[in-house]
Amino acid sequence: MKFLDRFFDKALEQAAARSDKLAAQARAETPGFDPAALQRLRDKSVLVIGAGGLGTAAAPFLAAAAVPYLQICDFGGVESETLASTPFYNRADIRRRKVEVVANRLNRQRPETQVHALAARSDEDFLDRRLPNLSIVVDATGDPATQQATNASCRRHSTPWVVGQVSGAGGWYTTLRPDTDGGPCLACLADERSATEVDDRPYPAALAGMVGSAMAMAALRVLMEDEDPVSGTPLVHRVDAYGQHWEVTPAERRENCPVCGC
Ligand SMILES: [Zn+2]
Repeated sequence: MKFLDRFFDKALEQAAARSDKLAAQARAETPGFDPAALQRLRDKSVLVIGAGGLGTAAAPFLAAAAVPYLQICDFGGVESETLASTPFYNRADIRRRKVEVVANRLNRQRPETQVHALAARSDEDFLDRRLPNLSIVVDATGDPATQQATNASCRRHSTPWVVGQVSGAGGWYTTLRPDTDGGPCLACLADERSATEVDDRPYPAALAGMVGSAMAMAALRVLMEDEDPVSGTPLVHRVDAYGQHWEVTPAERRENCPVCGC
């Protein structure tokens, strides 16, 4: 058994070294970013929660930037309705677990990124076990209960996170920084969010693509330390799919917030 353990440990080490080398090479060839900022990605790990329209828009762009460790969490399978919300899946994927499809496809296309599938429901227990080893969370579930759990856990572990939502013809996202002092949490924004509150209306896949890819870029900015977390006021970015314009409003901390207020 010990021999086998050593064998597997060695194989894992070799795979990690191979992936590190590929990631360094991919980062060196990634256009549009400052090379020094890209270097800061080398030991970063990202958890994307949700493998629907938003998650399958965000994850490929994180892999395309050669983020070395990417975990994708979702407990659902691909259904025929899923195909309308994202171009990522195809008919052959129906009845397969979403996370397995995402991990298999991205690991094949982007060997420089190690993508791990987590077929699980994300709640506070799940997050509390994982957050100590993560650099950032991207909550792409669009589910209010999951978002609140992510908010509470990220607050507890001082982990930055990006959250977004699409429904009908509108969507929004924001970056929250509990790793810095004074920033708002998701519950602070409850009143502001009510205007675009969650509902079950179907959304165009292109809208999820716009918001999900913007969420990936927001996560990359945090990972590359491209923004000043102290002076930068968090912003809520809202988009109307048909008007095609983004509206940006500052996200303020609420004094009597039930989660982070004192
Ligand atoms: Zn708050």
